[in-house]
Amino acid sequence: MDEFLEELPQRAREKHAENKKFFAKLKKKPPKDLDYVMQELHEEEFRRTDCLACANCCKTTGPLFTNADIERIAKHFRMKPSQFIDRYLRIDEENDHVLQEVPCTFLGADNYCSIYEVRPKACREFPHTDRKKFQQISNLTLKNVAICPAAFNIVEAMKKSIKI
Ligand code: SF4
Ligand code: SF4
Repeated sequence: MDEFLEELPQRAREKHAENKKFFAKLKKKPPKDLDYVMQELHEEEFRRTDCLACANCCKTTGPLFTNADIERIAKHFRMKPSQFIDRYLRIDEENDHVLQEVPCTFLGADNYCSIYEVRPKACREFPHTDRKKFQQISNLTLKNVAICPAAFNIVEAMKKSIKI
């Protein structure tokens, strides 16, 4: 996994133009069974991907925290939401609450998330490859393939199995 992670940004750069073209076509004419196909590809990839051997999303990019996330996680720590925000979060350029620093403060040395049960929605859903109407998040996916080996492999599998 370490070697794959090291090579991933370069491999994603090499595939960028091809991926961009593919997603442009996908957006124009998404296959009727796209949700089903994505579910299959996502499940197949995550059956063989060990996120605990990776944690690259938690190490290199943080999630955004919704108000519901902040309330739930603050409650878990028996803190007020405002205390939680002051201690762990900042506002980014898009006016979202994000972590003050990466790797994520809640990531352990063993790659376990110390707030797994109450983690942000964005962490639960990352890399969003089982999302319905997947063609709508192509710009995000083009970025995620440089961070997430599973997303990279899923996009490669999409290009092989979806003929557009
Ligand atoms: S979701 Fe992707 S980047 Fe995050 S730990 Fe799993 S494989 Fe790695
Ligand atoms: S909250 Fe947990 S899952 Fe989310 S980035 Fe931090 S360590 Fe990873």
